[in-house]
Amino acid sequence: MTDVTDLMRAKEALIYELINEGVLKREDIIEAFRKVPREDFVLADYIDHAYDNYPLPIGEGQTISQPLTVAFMTEALDPKKGQKILEVGAGSGYQAAILAEIIGKKGKIITAERIQKLADMARANLNKAGYSNAEVVVYDGSTGYEKEAPYDRIIVTASAPSVPNSLVKQLKKGGKLVITLLDEMFLIEKDDKVKKTFLGYYVFVPLIGKEGHSR
Ligand code: SAM
Repeated sequence: MTDVTDLMRAKEALIYELINEGVLKREDIIEAFRKVPREDFVLADYIDHAYDNYPLPIGEGQTISQPLTVAFMTEALDPKKGQKILEVGAGSGYQAAILAEIIGKKGKIITAERIQKLADMARANLNKAGYSNAEVVVYDGSTGYEKEAPYDRIIVTASAPSVPNSLVKQLKKGGKLVITLLDEMFLIEKDDKVKKTFLGYYVFVPLIGKEGHSR
């Protein structure tokens, strides 16, 4: 049986580590890390490791990203209250929950997942945590999700071969997109021109789809 106090201690230690490393900065993002119960987004066998700073398997050969990566991407995405966000790669639903917490009830996050079983899991996890502003869709997110476009922010939590045109198209003017190309993460800012800034090296499972890898 997992001791709740141990989990809470592990959570605070992780947050402290991420702040100390200069990864977690914004107060509302730190608060979201405190509020979202990561232990409810990992498989039962890994609950004791929910607040370890590494990725964990979630089934179907996929992973819940390392907390450091979630923190780094969230800060880079610069989400604001009331915004509409598209996530590509729902996985466990944890990153979506962090963003749902930050954008609040007036905001909305759509998270696309190509594997039905994982989409079901993400939906159940998000419902349990009470995030009614997060919607999980089974969809090839490499083409975005036209139905709900345009978006203030787009985050891709799988590695693409190149920036999918559909994602840039579905981004609002003034919008931001965070995406990893092979193992290089970039911030794409759309204004009159599209600006691309290198953020660092990160390893992800592949983005598979029409505007992603073929398999
Ligand atoms: N954000 C997730 C979380 O918080 O648990 C972790 C995502 S995991 C690293 C990457 C996910 O992207 C996998 O679940 C994978 O099935 C999904 N994926 C890959 N290609 C996709 C596509 N074209 N559309 C939607 N999801 C995709």
